[in-house]
Amino acid sequence: MAYRAPVRDIRFILDHVVGFAEVAATPRFQHATPDLAEAILDEAGRLCSDELAPLNRVGDVTPARLENGVVLSPPGFAEGYRAIAGGGWVGMAARPEHGGMGLPISLALSVDEMMSGACLALHLKPLLSKGQIEALEHHAGPEIQALYLPKLTSGEWSGTMNLTEPQAGTDVGALRTKAVPNGDGTYAVTGQKIFITWGDSDLTANVCHLVLARLPDGAEGTKGISLFMVPKFLPDAEGRPGARNGLRVVSLEHKLGIHGSPTCVMQFDGATGWLVGEPHKGMAAMFTMMNNARLSVAAQGVGLAEAALQHALAYAADRRQGTTPLSAEGTILDHADVRRMLATMRAEVFAARAIALSCAKAIDMATATGAAEWQARAALLTPIAKAHCTDIACEVAHRGVQVHGGMGFIEETGAAQFLRDARILPIYEGTNGVQAMDLVGRKMADGGEAAFRLIDEVQRGAEAARARLPDLAGEVWAAAEALREGTEAMVALPLNDRFAGAVPYLRAFARVLGAGAHLKAALAEDDREALARVMIRRILPEHAALLAEAREGAAGLYAVGPDDLAA
Ligand SMILES: Cc1cc2nc3c(=O)[nH]c(=O)nc-3n(C[C@H](O)[C@H](O)[C@H](O)COP(=O)(O)OP(=O)(O)OC[C@H]3O[C@@H](n4cnc5c(N)ncnc54)[C@H](O)[C@@H]3O)c2cc1C
Repeated sequence: MAYRAPVRDIRFILDHVVGFAEVAATPRFQHATPDLAEAILDEAGRLCSDELAPLNRVGDVTPARLENGVVLSPPGFAEGYRAIAGGGWVGMAARPEHGGMGLPISLALSVDEMMSGACLALHLKPLLSKGQIEALEHHAGPEIQALYLPKLTSGEWSGTMNLTEPQAGTDVGALRTKAVPNGDGTYAVTGQKIFITWGDSDLTANVCHLVLARLPDGAEGTKGISLFMVPKFLPDAEGRPGARNGLRVVSLEHKLGIHGSPTCVMQFDGATGWLVGEPHKGMAAMFTMMNNARLSVAAQGVGLAEAALQHALAYAADRRQGTTPLSAEGTILDHADVRRMLATMRAEVFAARAIALSCAKAIDMATATGAAEWQARAALLTPIAKAHCTDIACEVAHRGVQVHGGMGFIEETGAAQFLRDARILPIYEGTNGVQAMDLVGRKMADGGEAAFRLIDEVQRGAEAARARLPDLAGEVWAAAEALREGTEAMVALPLNDRFAGAVPYLRAFARVLGAGAHLKAALAEDDREALARVMIRRILPEHAALLAEAREGAAGLYAVGPDDLAA
Protein backbone atom coordinates (compact mmCIF):
# COMPACT_ATOMS: atom_id res chain seq x y z
CA MET A 1 0.00 0.00 0.00
CA ALA A 2 1.19 3.50 -0.80
CA TYR A 3 2.41 5.51 2.19
CA ARG A 4 0.27 8.53 3.13
CA ALA A 5 2.00 11.13 5.28
CA PRO A 6 0.20 11.34 8.66
CA VAL A 7 -0.22 15.12 8.59
CA ARG A 8 -3.41 15.10 10.66
CA ASP A 9 -1.92 13.13 13.55
CA ILE A 10 1.25 15.21 13.58
CA ARG A 11 -0.78 18.42 13.73
CA PHE A 12 -2.98 17.03 16.46
CA ILE A 13 0.04 16.14 18.59
CA LEU A 14 1.68 19.51 17.99
CA ASP A 15 -1.52 21.36 18.90
CA HIS A 16 -3.03 19.24 21.67
CA VAL A 17 -0.29 17.13 23.21
CA VAL A 18 3.05 18.94 23.12
CA GLY A 19 1.72 22.50 22.98
CA PHE A 20 3.54 23.86 19.94
CA ALA A 21 1.66 27.16 20.42
CA GLU A 22 4.12 27.96 23.22
CA VAL A 23 6.98 27.80 20.70
CA ALA A 24 5.14 29.97 18.18
CA ALA A 25 4.45 32.52 20.92
CA THR A 26 8.17 33.22 21.47
CA PRO A 27 9.74 36.20 19.66
CA ARG A 28 12.32 33.82 18.14
CA PHE A 29 9.71 31.70 16.38
CA GLN A 30 6.79 34.10 16.03
CA HIS A 31 6.92 33.69 12.25
CA ALA A 32 5.88 30.02 12.68
CA THR A 33 2.21 30.95 12.74
CA PRO A 34 -0.49 28.25 12.68
CA ASP A 35 -1.18 29.02 9.01
CA LEU A 36 2.46 28.68 8.08
CA ALA A 37 2.86 25.48 10.09
CA GLU A 38 -0.21 24.02 8.39
CA ALA A 39 1.02 24.98 4.93
CA ILE A 40 4.46 23.51 5.59
CA LEU A 41 3.15 20.21 6.91
CA ASP A 42 0.62 19.89 4.09
CA GLU A 43 3.22 20.58 1.41
CA ALA A 44 5.80 18.26 2.98
CA GLY A 45 3.12 15.60 3.29
CA ARG A 46 2.31 15.91 -0.39
CA LEU A 47 6.00 15.67 -1.38
CA CYS A 48 6.53 12.61 0.81
CA SER A 49 3.37 10.74 -0.21
CA ASP A 50 3.50 11.48 -3.92
CA GLU A 51 7.16 11.87 -4.86
CA LEU A 52 9.37 10.19 -2.26
CA ALA A 53 7.36 7.15 -1.20
CA PRO A 54 7.51 5.50 -4.65
CA LEU A 55 11.34 5.50 -4.34
CA ASN A 56 11.39 3.31 -1.23
CA ARG A 57 11.05 -0.02 -3.00
CA VAL A 58 13.28 1.10 -5.89
CA GLY A 59 16.14 1.81 -3.49
CA ASP A 60 15.71 -1.61 -1.87
CA VAL A 61 15.87 -3.63 -5.07
CA THR A 62 18.34 -1.36 -6.94
CA PRO A 63 20.92 -0.48 -4.30
CA ALA A 64 23.43 2.34 -4.53
CA ARG A 65 26.61 1.08 -6.22
CA LEU A 66 30.26 2.01 -6.63
CA GLU A 67 31.55 2.29 -10.20
CA ASN A 68 34.98 3.64 -11.12
CA GLY A 69 35.31 5.26 -7.72
CA VAL A 70 31.97 7.09 -7.92
CA VAL A 71 28.83 6.18 -5.99
CA LEU A 72 25.77 5.94 -8.22
CA SER A 73 22.39 6.39 -6.57
CA PRO A 74 19.33 4.21 -7.20
CA PRO A 75 17.06 5.25 -10.09
CA GLY A 76 14.80 8.17 -9.19
CA PHE A 77 16.82 9.25 -6.16
CA ALA A 78 18.24 12.21 -8.12
CA GLU A 79 14.75 13.53 -8.82
CA GLY A 80 13.69 12.86 -5.24
CA TYR A 81 16.72 14.65 -3.85
CA ARG A 82 16.17 17.59 -6.22
CA ALA A 83 12.62 17.89 -4.92
CA ILE A 84 13.89 17.91 -1.32
CA ALA A 85 16.65 20.46 -1.98
CA GLY A 86 14.57 22.57 -4.36
CA GLY A 87 11.76 22.84 -1.85
CA GLY A 88 14.16 24.29 0.72
CA TRP A 89 13.58 21.36 3.07
CA VAL A 90 17.27 20.87 3.92
CA GLY A 91 17.48 24.38 5.34
CA MET A 92 14.15 24.48 7.19
CA ALA A 93 15.73 25.03 10.60
CA ALA A 94 18.96 26.64 9.34
CA ARG A 95 19.75 30.28 10.00
CA PRO A 96 18.25 32.78 7.54
CA GLU A 97 21.57 34.61 7.08
CA HIS A 98 22.84 31.53 5.22
CA GLY A 99 19.66 30.93 3.27
CA GLY A 100 17.75 28.88 5.82
CA MET A 101 14.16 29.39 6.96
CA GLY A 102 14.94 29.58 10.69
CA LEU A 103 11.90 27.45 11.51
CA PRO A 104 11.45 25.53 14.76
CA ILE A 105 12.89 22.02 15.08
CA SER A 106 9.36 20.85 15.93
CA LEU A 107 8.32 21.47 12.33
CA ALA A 108 11.60 20.27 10.82
CA LEU A 109 11.32 17.04 12.81
CA SER A 110 7.76 16.50 11.64
CA VAL A 111 9.07 16.72 8.08
CA ASP A 112 11.93 14.34 8.97
CA GLU A 113 9.37 11.84 10.15
CA MET A 114 7.35 12.03 6.94
CA MET A 115 10.43 11.84 4.71
CA SER A 116 11.76 8.77 6.46
CA GLY A 117 8.34 7.12 6.43
CA ALA A 118 8.36 7.72 2.68
CA CYS A 119 11.96 6.67 1.94
CA LEU A 120 14.38 6.14 4.81
CA ALA A 121 17.43 5.51 2.61
CA LEU A 122 17.08 8.82 0.76
CA HIS A 123 16.15 10.78 3.88
CA LEU A 124 19.56 10.00 5.39
CA LYS A 125 21.22 12.37 2.96
CA PRO A 126 19.45 15.59 4.03
CA LEU A 127 19.50 14.34 7.63
CA LEU A 128 23.28 14.40 7.71
CA SER A 129 23.49 17.75 5.93
CA LYS A 130 21.16 19.25 8.53
CA GLY A 131 23.32 17.96 11.34
CA GLN A 132 26.41 19.36 9.69
CA ILE A 133 24.77 22.74 9.18
CA GLU A 134 24.00 22.95 12.89
CA ALA A 135 27.54 21.90 13.87
CA LEU A 136 29.05 24.56 11.57
CA GLU A 137 26.61 27.23 12.79
CA HIS A 138 27.78 26.64 16.35
CA HIS A 139 31.46 25.85 15.96
CA ALA A 140 32.96 26.95 12.62
CA GLY A 141 34.70 30.25 12.01
CA PRO A 142 33.17 32.91 9.72
CA GLU A 143 35.13 31.88 6.61
CA ILE A 144 34.03 28.25 6.72
CA GLN A 145 30.49 29.34 7.54
CA ALA A 146 30.40 31.76 4.59
CA LEU A 147 31.80 29.17 2.20
CA TYR A 148 29.88 26.07 3.20
CA LEU A 149 26.63 27.02 4.91
CA PRO A 150 24.80 28.54 1.93
CA LYS A 151 25.60 25.54 -0.28
CA LEU A 152 24.71 22.99 2.39
CA THR A 153 21.53 24.87 3.24
CA SER A 154 20.39 24.95 -0.38
CA GLY A 155 21.23 21.25 -0.75
CA GLU A 156 23.67 21.98 -3.61
CA TRP A 157 26.36 20.29 -1.47
CA SER A 158 25.78 17.64 1.16
CA GLY A 159 27.37 16.74 4.50
CA THR A 160 28.60 13.58 6.16
CA MET A 161 29.90 12.69 9.61
CA ASN A 162 33.10 10.63 9.84
CA LEU A 163 33.66 9.18 13.30
CA THR A 164 33.80 5.42 13.03
CA GLU A 165 36.98 3.42 12.38
CA PRO A 166 37.40 -0.34 12.55
CA GLN A 167 38.81 -0.22 16.11
CA ALA A 168 36.82 2.89 17.14
CA GLY A 169 33.06 2.38 17.15
CA THR A 170 31.30 3.27 20.40
CA ASP A 171 34.78 4.07 21.76
CA VAL A 172 35.38 7.04 19.46
CA GLY A 173 38.44 7.99 21.54
CA ALA A 174 40.32 5.02 20.05
CA LEU A 175 40.43 6.64 16.60
CA ARG A 176 43.74 6.77 14.71
CA THR A 177 43.06 9.20 11.87
CA LYS A 178 45.71 11.93 11.96
CA ALA A 179 45.73 15.58 10.98
CA VAL A 180 49.09 17.28 10.43
CA PRO A 181 49.39 21.07 9.93
CA ASN A 182 50.41 22.00 6.37
CA GLY A 183 51.81 25.34 7.57
CA ASP A 184 49.28 27.38 5.58
CA GLY A 185 46.35 27.08 7.95
CA THR A 186 45.18 23.79 6.42
CA TYR A 187 45.79 20.23 7.62
CA ALA A 188 46.69 16.95 5.93
CA VAL A 189 44.17 14.33 7.07
CA THR A 190 45.13 10.66 6.80
CA GLY A 191 43.25 7.58 7.93
CA GLN A 192 40.40 5.21 7.20
CA LYS A 193 36.78 5.66 8.25
CA ILE A 194 34.14 2.96 7.94
CA PHE A 195 30.34 2.93 7.77
CA ILE A 196 30.12 6.48 6.37
CA THR A 197 26.54 7.14 5.31
CA TRP A 198 26.22 8.82 1.91
CA GLY A 199 30.05 9.16 1.93
CA ASP A 200 29.76 9.90 -1.77
CA SER A 201 27.01 10.27 -4.34
CA ASP A 202 26.10 11.61 -7.74
CA LEU A 203 23.34 13.74 -6.22
CA THR A 204 25.34 16.79 -5.17
CA ALA A 205 28.18 18.85 -6.67
CA ASN A 206 30.31 18.39 -3.56
CA VAL A 207 30.34 16.15 -0.49
CA CYS A 208 31.59 17.84 2.69
CA HIS A 209 33.05 15.48 5.25
CA LEU A 210 33.27 16.45 8.89
CA VAL A 211 36.11 14.23 10.06
CA LEU A 212 37.31 13.49 13.58
CA ALA A 213 41.11 13.20 13.70
CA ARG A 214 44.00 13.67 16.10
CA LEU A 215 46.55 16.49 15.83
CA PRO A 216 50.22 15.56 16.45
CA ASP A 217 50.00 16.97 19.99
CA GLY A 218 46.54 15.49 20.63
CA ALA A 219 46.27 13.44 23.84
CA GLU A 220 45.03 9.86 23.82
CA GLY A 221 41.28 9.33 24.16
CA THR A 222 38.41 11.71 23.37
CA LYS A 223 40.14 14.77 24.85
CA GLY A 224 42.76 14.80 22.05
CA ILE A 225 40.35 14.74 19.12
CA SER A 226 39.77 17.63 16.72
CA LEU A 227 37.21 18.19 13.99
CA PHE A 228 38.00 18.99 10.36
CA MET A 229 36.08 20.00 7.28
CA VAL A 230 37.39 17.86 4.42
CA PRO A 231 35.51 18.43 1.15
CA LYS A 232 35.55 15.99 -1.77
CA PHE A 233 36.36 18.89 -4.12
CA LEU A 234 38.45 21.81 -2.83
CA PRO A 235 36.45 25.01 -3.28
CA ASP A 236 38.14 27.69 -5.40
CA ALA A 237 38.24 31.38 -4.49
CA GLU A 238 34.62 31.85 -5.64
CA GLY A 239 33.47 28.80 -3.69
CA ARG A 240 33.09 26.59 -6.75
CA PRO A 241 34.13 22.93 -6.39
CA GLY A 242 37.67 22.78 -7.79
CA ALA A 243 40.47 20.22 -7.56
CA ARG A 244 39.74 16.73 -6.29
CA ASN A 245 40.84 16.25 -2.65
CA GLY A 246 42.94 13.30 -1.45
CA LEU A 247 40.08 11.04 -0.41
CA ARG A 248 38.17 8.18 -1.99
CA VAL A 249 35.51 5.59 -1.41
CA VAL A 250 37.19 2.21 -1.05
CA SER A 251 34.04 0.12 -1.02
CA LEU A 252 30.34 0.02 -0.10
CA GLU A 253 28.99 -2.23 2.63
CA HIS A 254 26.47 -4.98 1.80
CA LYS A 255 23.74 -4.43 4.36
CA LEU A 256 20.62 -5.97 5.86
CA GLY A 257 18.56 -2.95 4.85
CA ILE A 258 18.54 0.70 3.68
CA HIS A 259 20.08 -0.54 0.43
CA GLY A 260 19.44 2.77 -1.29
CA SER A 261 21.80 4.54 1.11
CA PRO A 262 25.50 4.01 0.31
CA THR A 263 27.48 3.08 3.44
CA CYS A 264 31.09 3.81 2.53
CA VAL A 265 34.57 2.84 3.61
CA MET A 266 36.46 6.12 3.17
CA GLN A 267 40.20 6.50 2.72
CA PHE A 268 41.79 9.88 3.45
CA ASP A 269 45.36 10.16 2.12
CA GLY A 270 46.76 13.52 3.18
CA ALA A 271 43.43 15.12 2.26
CA THR A 272 43.27 18.86 2.80
CA GLY A 273 41.12 19.81 5.75
CA TRP A 274 40.23 22.90 7.75
CA LEU A 275 39.94 22.89 11.53
CA VAL A 276 36.39 23.43 12.82
CA GLY A 277 36.29 24.89 16.31
CA GLU A 278 39.18 24.71 18.77
CA PRO A 279 42.02 22.20 18.54
CA HIS A 280 41.32 19.10 20.69
CA LYS A 281 37.68 20.16 21.18
CA GLY A 282 36.34 18.14 18.27
CA MET A 283 34.07 15.93 20.34
CA ALA A 284 32.10 18.91 21.64
CA ALA A 285 31.57 20.15 18.09
CA MET A 286 30.69 16.70 16.81
CA PHE A 287 28.22 16.29 19.67
CA THR A 288 26.19 19.15 18.24
CA MET A 289 25.86 17.17 15.04
CA MET A 290 25.24 13.92 16.88
CA ASN A 291 22.52 15.34 19.13
CA ASN A 292 20.77 16.79 16.12
CA ALA A 293 21.12 13.49 14.28
CA ARG A 294 19.94 11.50 17.31
CA LEU A 295 16.62 13.26 17.37
CA SER A 296 16.31 12.97 13.60
CA VAL A 297 16.92 9.22 13.97
CA ALA A 298 14.10 9.13 16.53
CA ALA A 299 11.90 10.71 13.85
CA GLN A 300 13.13 8.06 11.42
CA GLY A 301 11.90 5.43 13.86
CA VAL A 302 8.46 7.01 14.07
CA GLY A 303 8.28 7.46 10.30
CA LEU A 304 9.27 3.90 9.57
CA ALA A 305 6.84 2.55 12.17
CA GLU A 306 4.01 4.61 10.66
CA ALA A 307 4.79 3.27 7.20
CA ALA A 308 4.98 -0.35 8.42
CA LEU A 309 1.67 0.09 10.23
CA GLN A 310 -0.09 1.57 7.20
CA HIS A 311 1.18 -1.33 5.13
CA ALA A 312 -0.02 -3.96 7.57
CA LEU A 313 -3.38 -2.28 8.04
CA ALA A 314 -4.03 -2.23 4.30
CA TYR A 315 -3.19 -5.92 4.06
CA ALA A 316 -5.38 -6.84 7.02
CA ALA A 317 -8.31 -4.87 5.63
CA ASP A 318 -8.16 -6.95 2.46
CA ARG A 319 -7.19 -10.45 3.54
CA ARG A 320 -9.99 -12.89 4.42
CA GLN A 321 -9.41 -15.98 6.54
CA GLY A 322 -12.22 -17.88 8.17
CA THR A 323 -15.23 -16.46 9.89
CA THR A 324 -14.57 -13.57 12.20
CA PRO A 325 -16.56 -12.91 15.37
CA LEU A 326 -17.90 -9.74 13.75
CA SER A 327 -19.15 -11.18 10.46
CA ALA A 328 -18.88 -14.11 8.07
CA GLU A 329 -17.55 -11.75 5.41
CA GLY A 330 -14.97 -10.02 7.58
CA THR A 331 -11.28 -9.70 6.89
CA ILE A 332 -8.50 -10.72 9.30
CA LEU A 333 -8.76 -7.21 10.74
CA ASP A 334 -11.82 -8.48 12.62
CA HIS A 335 -9.96 -11.29 14.40
CA ALA A 336 -9.25 -10.20 17.96
CA ASP A 337 -5.55 -11.05 17.81
CA VAL A 338 -4.98 -9.15 14.56
CA ARG A 339 -6.91 -6.20 15.98
CA ARG A 340 -4.67 -6.43 19.06
CA MET A 341 -1.54 -6.25 16.94
CA LEU A 342 -2.74 -3.29 14.90
CA ALA A 343 -4.15 -1.40 17.88
CA THR A 344 -0.86 -1.89 19.71
CA MET A 345 1.06 -0.67 16.68
CA ARG A 346 -1.10 2.46 16.37
CA ALA A 347 -0.86 3.20 20.09
CA GLU A 348 2.92 2.78 19.99
CA VAL A 349 3.36 5.02 16.95
CA PHE A 350 1.25 7.75 18.53
CA ALA A 351 3.19 7.62 21.80
CA ALA A 352 6.59 7.56 20.08
CA ARG A 353 5.63 10.52 17.89
CA ALA A 354 4.53 12.48 20.96
CA ILE A 355 7.84 11.74 22.74
CA ALA A 356 9.94 12.80 19.73
CA LEU A 357 7.94 16.00 19.27
CA SER A 358 8.12 16.79 23.01
CA CYS A 359 11.90 16.63 22.71
CA ALA A 360 11.79 18.89 19.64
CA LYS A 361 9.63 21.38 21.51
CA ALA A 362 12.08 21.41 24.42
CA ILE A 363 14.92 22.18 22.00
CA ASP A 364 12.90 25.00 20.42
CA MET A 365 12.03 26.46 23.80
CA ALA A 366 15.66 26.22 24.90
CA THR A 367 16.71 28.04 21.72
CA ALA A 368 14.01 30.67 22.07
CA THR A 369 14.37 31.37 25.79
CA GLY A 370 17.84 30.14 26.74
CA ALA A 371 16.23 28.81 29.93
CA ALA A 372 18.27 26.16 31.74
CA GLU A 373 15.12 24.14 32.49
CA TRP A 374 14.29 23.72 28.82
CA GLN A 375 17.89 22.85 28.05
CA ALA A 376 17.85 20.16 30.72
CA ARG A 377 14.50 18.86 29.42
CA ALA A 378 15.88 18.64 25.87
CA ALA A 379 19.03 16.88 27.08
CA LEU A 380 16.99 14.37 29.09
CA LEU A 381 14.52 13.62 26.32
CA THR A 382 17.06 13.18 23.51
CA PRO A 383 18.30 9.69 24.52
CA ILE A 384 14.76 8.62 25.47
CA ALA A 385 13.44 9.70 22.08
CA LYS A 386 16.31 8.16 20.12
CA ALA A 387 16.25 4.80 21.87
CA HIS A 388 12.52 4.38 22.37
CA CYS A 389 11.33 5.53 18.96
CA THR A 390 13.84 3.29 17.20
CA ASP A 391 13.07 0.25 19.37
CA ILE A 392 9.42 0.81 18.60
CA ALA A 393 10.21 0.99 14.88
CA CYS A 394 11.65 -2.53 15.04
CA GLU A 395 8.74 -3.83 17.12
CA VAL A 396 6.08 -2.31 14.90
CA ALA A 397 7.80 -3.54 11.73
CA HIS A 398 8.09 -6.99 13.32
CA ARG A 399 4.37 -7.01 14.11
CA GLY A 400 3.70 -5.76 10.60
CA VAL A 401 5.30 -8.92 9.21
CA GLN A 402 3.21 -11.01 11.61
CA VAL A 403 -0.03 -9.35 10.47
CA HIS A 404 0.86 -10.41 6.92
CA GLY A 405 1.31 -14.05 7.94
CA GLY A 406 3.44 -15.96 5.40
CA MET A 407 3.22 -13.09 2.94
CA GLY A 408 5.16 -10.99 5.44
CA PHE A 409 8.15 -13.24 4.90
CA ILE A 410 7.92 -12.92 1.13
CA GLU A 411 9.75 -9.88 -0.18
CA GLU A 412 7.14 -8.79 -2.76
CA THR A 413 4.71 -7.50 -0.15
CA GLY A 414 7.28 -5.00 1.19
CA ALA A 415 6.55 -5.83 4.85
CA ALA A 416 9.97 -7.44 5.23
CA GLN A 417 11.75 -4.35 3.92
CA PHE A 418 10.42 -2.29 6.83
CA LEU A 419 11.80 -4.84 9.26
CA ARG A 420 15.19 -4.95 7.53
CA ASP A 421 15.40 -1.16 7.20
CA ALA A 422 14.33 -0.56 10.80
CA ARG A 423 17.08 -2.72 12.26
CA ILE A 424 19.83 -0.14 11.83
CA LEU A 425 17.96 2.53 13.78
CA PRO A 426 18.78 1.22 17.30
CA ILE A 427 22.43 0.85 16.24
CA TYR A 428 23.63 4.01 14.51
CA GLU A 429 23.98 7.44 16.11
CA GLY A 430 25.03 5.70 19.33
CA THR A 431 23.53 2.30 20.10
CA ASN A 432 20.39 2.28 22.21
CA GLY A 433 22.35 0.76 25.08
CA VAL A 434 24.63 3.77 24.99
CA GLN A 435 21.62 6.13 24.87
CA ALA A 436 20.23 4.49 28.01
CA MET A 437 23.58 4.81 29.77
CA ASP A 438 23.64 8.49 28.77
CA LEU A 439 20.17 8.89 30.33
CA VAL A 440 21.03 7.35 33.69
CA GLY A 441 24.58 8.75 33.73
CA ARG A 442 25.21 12.22 32.34
CA LYS A 443 21.54 13.20 32.10
CA MET A 444 21.01 12.37 35.77
CA ALA A 445 24.12 14.09 37.03
CA ASP A 446 21.60 16.65 38.36
CA GLY A 447 20.38 14.05 40.87
CA GLY A 448 17.34 13.40 38.70
CA GLU A 449 16.01 16.96 38.91
CA ALA A 450 15.02 17.24 35.22
CA ALA A 451 13.45 13.79 35.37
CA PHE A 452 11.40 14.68 38.46
CA ARG A 453 10.14 17.86 36.79
CA LEU A 454 8.94 15.85 33.83
CA ILE A 455 7.29 13.27 36.09
CA ASP A 456 5.54 16.13 37.95
CA GLU A 457 4.19 17.34 34.64
CA VAL A 458 2.79 13.92 33.75
CA GLN A 459 1.10 13.78 37.14
CA ARG A 460 -0.38 17.25 36.67
CA GLY A 461 -1.78 16.02 33.35
CA ALA A 462 -3.28 13.01 35.13
CA GLU A 463 -4.87 15.29 37.75
CA ALA A 464 -6.41 17.37 34.97
CA ALA A 465 -7.93 14.21 33.45
CA ARG A 466 -9.26 12.73 36.71
CA ALA A 467 -12.77 14.17 36.46
CA ARG A 468 -13.44 12.96 32.90
CA LEU A 469 -11.34 9.78 32.71
CA PRO A 470 -10.84 8.71 36.32
CA ASP A 471 -9.64 5.16 35.73
CA LEU A 472 -7.12 6.06 33.03
CA ALA A 473 -5.92 9.11 34.94
CA GLY A 474 -5.43 7.05 38.08
CA GLU A 475 -3.28 4.51 36.27
CA VAL A 476 -1.10 7.13 34.63
CA TRP A 477 -0.64 8.95 37.95
CA ALA A 478 0.33 5.75 39.73
CA ALA A 479 2.77 4.71 36.99
CA ALA A 480 4.40 8.15 37.15
CA GLU A 481 4.72 7.75 40.91
CA ALA A 482 6.38 4.36 40.43
CA LEU A 483 8.75 6.00 37.96
CA ARG A 484 9.55 8.68 40.54
CA GLU A 485 10.46 5.99 43.07
CA GLY A 486 12.42 4.11 40.41
CA THR A 487 14.32 7.29 39.58
CA GLU A 488 15.13 7.93 43.24
CA ALA A 489 16.47 4.39 43.47
CA MET A 490 18.39 4.78 40.22
CA VAL A 491 20.24 7.97 41.19
CA ALA A 492 21.29 6.37 44.48
CA LEU A 493 23.00 3.45 42.71
CA PRO A 494 26.70 3.26 41.77
CA LEU A 495 27.22 4.04 38.09
CA ASN A 496 27.72 0.51 36.78
CA ASP A 497 24.60 -0.66 38.61
CA ARG A 498 22.71 2.13 36.91
CA PHE A 499 24.15 1.04 33.57
CA ALA A 500 22.97 -2.53 34.18
CA GLY A 501 19.41 -1.25 34.53
CA ALA A 502 19.59 1.60 32.05
CA VAL A 503 17.71 0.01 29.15
CA PRO A 504 14.67 -1.15 31.15
CA TYR A 505 14.65 2.18 33.02
CA LEU A 506 14.58 4.15 29.77
CA ARG A 507 11.74 2.04 28.45
CA ALA A 508 9.76 2.47 31.66
CA PHE A 509 10.25 6.23 31.36
CA ALA A 510 9.01 6.14 27.78
CA ARG A 511 6.00 4.08 28.83
CA VAL A 512 4.97 6.74 31.33
CA LEU A 513 5.54 9.58 28.86
CA GLY A 514 3.63 7.75 26.15
CA ALA A 515 0.71 7.05 28.47
CA GLY A 516 0.66 10.69 29.57
CA ALA A 517 0.51 11.77 25.93
CA HIS A 518 -2.37 9.41 25.17
CA LEU A 519 -4.26 10.67 28.19
CA LYS A 520 -3.94 14.27 27.01
CA ALA A 521 -5.12 13.21 23.57
CA ALA A 522 -8.17 11.44 24.98
CA LEU A 523 -9.02 14.53 26.98
CA ALA A 524 -8.76 16.73 23.91
CA GLU A 525 -10.81 14.49 21.57
CA ASP A 526 -13.31 11.81 22.60
CA ASP A 527 -12.44 9.73 19.54
CA ARG A 528 -8.96 9.17 20.91
CA GLU A 529 -10.07 7.47 24.11
CA ALA A 530 -10.16 3.91 22.70
CA LEU A 531 -6.51 4.12 21.66
CA ALA A 532 -5.56 5.71 24.97
CA ARG A 533 -7.14 2.71 26.71
CA VAL A 534 -4.99 0.35 24.67
CA MET A 535 -1.89 2.28 25.70
CA ILE A 536 -2.76 2.70 29.35
CA ARG A 537 -4.49 -0.61 30.11
CA ARG A 538 -2.43 -2.97 27.95
CA ILE A 539 1.00 -1.43 27.39
CA LEU A 540 1.69 0.85 30.35
CA PRO A 541 1.57 -1.99 32.95
CA GLU A 542 4.90 -3.14 31.54
CA HIS A 543 6.51 -0.26 33.47
CA ALA A 544 6.33 -2.19 36.75
CA ALA A 545 8.37 -5.14 35.48
CA LEU A 546 10.81 -2.80 33.77
CA LEU A 547 11.39 -0.76 36.93
CA ALA A 548 11.91 -3.95 38.94
CA GLU A 549 14.61 -5.01 36.49
CA ALA A 550 16.15 -1.53 36.51
CA ARG A 551 16.84 -1.75 40.25
CA GLU A 552 18.57 -5.11 40.08
CA GLY A 553 22.09 -3.75 39.62
CA ALA A 554 25.03 -5.35 37.86
CA ALA A 555 26.19 -8.09 40.25
CA GLY A 556 23.58 -10.61 39.17
CA LEU A 557 24.58 -10.14 35.54
CA TYR A 558 28.29 -10.61 36.17
CA ALA A 559 27.38 -13.69 38.23
CA VAL A 560 26.47 -15.25 34.89
CA GLY A 561 30.04 -15.96 33.81
CA PRO A 562 31.33 -16.72 30.31
CA ASP A 563 31.07 -20.45 31.06
CA ASP A 564 27.40 -20.10 31.99
CA LEU A 565 26.78 -18.24 28.75
CA ALA A 566 28.51 -20.91 26.72
CA ALA A 567 26.81 -23.94 28.32
C1 LIG B 1 24.40 1.43 8.12
C2 LIG B 1 25.32 2.16 9.03
C3 LIG B 1 25.49 3.51 8.86
C4 LIG B 1 26.39 4.21 9.69
N1 LIG B 1 26.64 5.54 9.45
C5 LIG B 1 27.68 6.14 10.09
C6 LIG B 1 28.15 7.44 9.71
O1 LIG B 1 27.59 8.07 8.82
N2 LIG B 1 29.22 7.96 10.34
C7 LIG B 1 29.88 7.28 11.34
O2 LIG B 1 30.86 7.81 11.86
N3 LIG B 1 29.45 6.07 11.75
C8 LIG B 1 28.39 5.47 11.14
N4 LIG B 1 27.97 4.22 11.52
C9 LIG B 1 28.62 3.57 12.65
C10 LIG B 1 27.70 3.41 13.85
O3 LIG B 1 27.47 4.65 14.46
C11 LIG B 1 28.36 2.37 14.77
O4 LIG B 1 28.18 1.11 14.16
C12 LIG B 1 27.80 2.38 16.16
O5 LIG B 1 28.14 3.56 16.82
C13 LIG B 1 28.30 1.19 17.00
O6 LIG B 1 29.68 1.02 16.90
P1 LIG B 1 30.27 -0.43 16.52
O7 LIG B 1 29.56 -0.88 15.29
O8 LIG B 1 31.73 -0.36 16.46
O9 LIG B 1 29.81 -1.36 17.70
P2 LIG B 1 30.61 -1.59 19.08
O10 LIG B 1 31.05 -0.28 19.63
O11 LIG B 1 31.62 -2.65 18.86
O12 LIG B 1 29.44 -2.15 20.01
C14 LIG B 1 29.05 -3.53 20.03
C15 LIG B 1 28.06 -3.72 21.19
O13 LIG B 1 28.71 -3.39 22.43
C16 LIG B 1 28.01 -2.37 23.11
N5 LIG B 1 28.96 -1.48 23.77
C17 LIG B 1 30.07 -0.92 23.24
N6 LIG B 1 30.67 -0.13 24.14
C18 LIG B 1 29.94 -0.18 25.26
C19 LIG B 1 30.03 0.42 26.55
N7 LIG B 1 31.00 1.28 26.85
N8 LIG B 1 29.08 0.12 27.46
C20 LIG B 1 28.08 -0.72 27.16
N9 LIG B 1 27.93 -1.31 25.98
C21 LIG B 1 28.84 -1.05 25.03
C22 LIG B 1 27.18 -1.66 22.05
O14 LIG B 1 26.02 -1.03 22.60
C23 LIG B 1 26.84 -2.80 21.10
O15 LIG B 1 25.71 -3.47 21.55
C24 LIG B 1 27.06 3.53 10.73
C25 LIG B 1 26.84 2.16 10.92
C26 LIG B 1 26.01 1.47 10.07
C27 LIG B 1 25.87 -0.02 10.27
